[in-house]
Formats: sequence, structure tokens, C-alpha cells
Amino acid sequence: MLTRPDVAIVGAGPVGLAIAWRCASRGLRVTVHDPAPGSGASHVAAGMLSPVAEAYFGEHALTGLLAESATRWPRFAADLADAAGADVGYRADGTLVVGLTADDLAEARRLWSYQQGLGLPITPLRPSELRDREPALAPRVRGGAVAPGDHQVDPRRLVPALRAAAERAGAVLRPDRVGPLSEVDAGVTVVAAGCGAAALTGLPVRPVKGQVLRLRAPGRGAPDFRHVIRGYADGESIYLVPRDGGEVVVGATVEERADTEVTAGGVLRLLRAAVDLVPELAEYDLVEAMAGLRPGTPDNAPIIGPLPGRPGVLVATGHHRHGIVLTPVTADLVTELIVTGEPDPLLAPFTPDRFGKEPTWN
Ligand SMILES: Cc1cc2nc3c(=O)[nH]c(=O)nc-3n(C[C@H](O)[C@H](O)[C@H](O)COP(=O)(O)OP(=O)(O)OC[C@H]3O[C@@H](n4cnc5c(N)ncnc54)[C@H](O)[C@@H]3O)c2cc1C
Repeated sequence: MLTRPDVAIVGAGPVGLAIAWRCASRGLRVTVHDPAPGSGASHVAAGMLSPVAEAYFGEHALTGLLAESATRWPRFAADLADAAGADVGYRADGTLVVGLTADDLAEARRLWSYQQGLGLPITPLRPSELRDREPALAPRVRGGAVAPGDHQVDPRRLVPALRAAAERAGAVLRPDRVGPLSEVDAGVTVVAAGCGAAALTGLPVRPVKGQVLRLRAPGRGAPDFRHVIRGYADGESIYLVPRDGGEVVVGATVEERADTEVTAGGVLRLLRAAVDLVPELAEYDLVEAMAGLRPGTPDNAPIIGPLPGRPGVLVATGHHRHGIVLTPVTADLVTELIVTGEPDPLLAPFTPDRFGKEPTWN
């Protein structure tokens, strides 16, 4: 029977489990509380590790954190494979960003210029170079670029591996939903509950719905393309993520809604854009249609650090579209903060106290 834990973690998604693994590996007594581990956004997520393709105007600090975490991923995946005895589907084939029409390409180019201006690795390709890399792309696709450092992992393999690694390191999972934080008795409580963090902390985390499809190549073969393909197709922005086992993840809608219904319109938009970009996908089996809720924040960046006015409570939530890529850096920074008491300077732009400080008009 575990005595009072040093660290109690609320939420067994990728973020909470990675923190549990890292803390338990440092010799801390850890409990993780979740009635349904791995049932949050990660169950739906595509698993793109995209610091470059996800570098948007006005999100400079977030881009820096994404890039930092992406550099940690190869080592993190290897350590995790050792610790859990399981492979997490980390693949480094790179990402192609493509535009279907001239308008789509113009929109994509605007973003590449910005990303190149930041010094990020993205290189425009001639149409022939694009097709040499991925002959499965539709002849209509007007142009594209390659982001060789944007990789992928399979979140449905990642979460069980993190759980196994955490438990092997001594963390104890408890199947309970945490109500008020005052019910948790531990040295430090870490709220890593994804969208559930809003009710527990009062922080501005909101659900952002995303519908995703899973297709399967016929005959159990691998898909005919290796890169992650992110496309602009007649104004739709979608991605296609091929996996070794034959699966292709097609995502995702972005909706300011809190339900997880799959709609005919959502499926139609995703399939139309997917088949416009890679026509052979029309022959694939449609095996799953699902919606999940990203833990969004007002500035699209995660919330990591001490909860103001609540000594002994840390927060690691609000990872929005980036919780998979940000798992390694979040776990490392939170663990260091717990072990040393000193926040890493990388955390400064992401602490919970940044909210409520916005200037007013008068
Ligand atoms: C459609 C879609 C596509 C995505 N694609 C990508 C991608 O390609 N790359 C990427 O990096 N990210 C992606 N994401 C984002 C990513 O899935 C999330 O940012 C990530 O899952 C957040 O991890 P988390 O552990 O914080 O939360 P979650 O994965 O949501 O897990 C939260 C856990 O907390 C538990 N919980 C909640 N409340 C309580 C409570 N009161 N008590 C106990 N437990 C509680 C839940 O049961 C759940 O298990 C995508 C998300 C969606 C929806």
C-alpha cells in the first residue's frame, strides 16, 4: 500500500502519464488518477510531430517550444521503447505540404515564407520533385514543399507504452475521477486532465472539436505513400497520416463545439479533400469516424506551471493541437520543476499566471 505520494497526477493522457514516468524514474512516489486512462483527445489524435508545418503567424513562443520538443522526440521514443518494451510507431519520413489549386498554393506559400523567415526547415519543391517523392499525389496538385523534420508517432501505441513505463517505474494508477483538488492528498498535485482542467482549476481551457477518419489500405498492404501529407484543397486544410500497418488517418475539422458527434458534413469535407489530393484513397476501407476535444487556450499555447493561489498545485494542460509533440518537453520541464523547485526559463511564456493580464482599452 502506497503511503502519501510525493506526486499525484490528475489525468492519464499522454501528458499525465509521461510526467508520471519521468517522476517515478527519479525515485518519487507517484499516483495517477483517471477513471478512463487514454480516453481523452489522444485517442483521436493523428500524432503528427509538426513543429514546422504548425508554425503560424503570431505564435512565436509556441513555435519555439514545439521545435524544442520535436528535437527531444527521437531520444524520448527510444527511451520509452526500452522502458515499456513496446514500439510507439515513431516515423521520420518527413511531411509534404501541398496545394491543390493556384489559390491553395498561394495560401501555402505565404506560410512557407514566414516559416523560412524563422529559419525553419521547409523547402519548396518543383512539381516533378513533388511527384517523384509521392507518385500517389493527384496530377491536379499544383505544388508543394517538404518539411523533413516533421515526423509522426501513433498516439494509440504511445499512451499504453507510457502507462507501462510509468507502472514499471513504480507509479500507481487509480481509477478515480478527481472532483475538488482539495480531495487529493499529496506533496504536489499535477493537473494534467486535458479539457477536464477547466473545471478543476478555473483556467481558460475550452474544448475544440475535431472529427477524424481512419481508412485502411485494401489487402492489408501499407499505404502507397510514406510522407505525412498536409494539404490545402479548395480552401479545406487537411492531413493524411500513413501508418505501417495500412492505416491512414484523415483529419481534422476544427469546430468551437463541445460535443463528440460525427456529422455527415464533416465526413464529406474530409473525404472529398482527401480523395482530391490522393485519388487512390477512394478505394480504401473506411474503418472509423470519430470526434475528439482538443484542450484549447486563448493563445493556442499550453499552460504549464504553478497554479496561482494554490501552493502545491501544478498545471500541465491546454496543449490544444500539440499535446503529442509537446509530451516530451512538458514531462521534462514539469519533472525538473518538481525535483529542483526551479522553473526552467523555457516555461516563462507558458505559466498559468499569464491570463488576466491582458491590457484593457481604458
Ligand atoms: C482531432 C485531433 C487531432 C489531433 N492531432 C494531433 C497531432 O497530430 N499532434 C499533436 O501533437 N496533437 C494532436 N492533437 C492534440 C492532442 O491529442 C492533445 O493535445 C493531447 O491529447 C493532450 O494530452 P493530455 O494528456 O493533456 O489530455 P488528454 O489526452 O485529453 O487526456 C486527458 C485525460 O484526463 C482525464 N481526466 C479528465 N478530467 C479528469 C478528472 N477530473 N479526474 C481524473 N481524470 C480526468 C481523461 O479521462 C483523460 O484520460 C489532436 C487532437 C484532436 C482532438
